[in-house]
Amino acid sequence: MSSARESPDKATANNPLKHPNSRIAVLTSHFTATMSSEKDAALAAAAAPPPADSPTIFDKIINKEIPAKVVYEDDKVLAFRDISPQAPTHILLIPKIKDGLTGLSQAEERHCEILGQLLYAAKLVAKQEGLEDGFRVVINDGPDGSQSVYHLHLHLLGGRQMNWPPG
Ligand code: 5GP
Repeated sequence: MSSARESPDKATANNPLKHPNSRIAVLTSHFTATMSSEKDAALAAAAAPPPADSPTIFDKIINKEIPAKVVYEDDKVLAFRDISPQAPTHILLIPKIKDGLTGLSQAEERHCEILGQLLYAAKLVAKQEGLEDGFRVVINDGPDGSQSVYHLHLHLLGGRQMNWPPG
């Protein structure tokens, strides 16, 4: 039976820092320390969890302080292309107002409406992107989930065959 956790050797073998457009390379651009793996980046982000209302890179995107390729927007939801795509289509959907939703684990009953709106927006964007053959929606949560940006977001992935189980 295989372990659910990646061994350090395997993480090193993947050596994501060698790929300048990889997710880890993007993440390290937001940190001062060099990270040895994607998991380390998520752990570092979680090591000193920010206060619920402290800004993240996504606030800068919402406030148009940094550019993003926006593909969908309504009064509550913003969707834009991931800077380090893991599939031909890789879009992030975020609530425009975080309201304490640093991650799904922080959801409370009052968040049910925005959680539903995010999922429905994912369906609309999938259709807009022509993902008729299917797609995947992912929410990473906390260190074990390899979350790196603490502003709730859905990953919409499509345009290729997805594998199961996920890594
Ligand atoms: P997480 O690891 O928290 O589930 O996902 C965060 C995602 O945000 C990653 O897929 C990463 O590539 C993406 N990301 C990080 N910084 C930026 C950025 O500045 N712009 C965009 N468009 N995506 C970003």
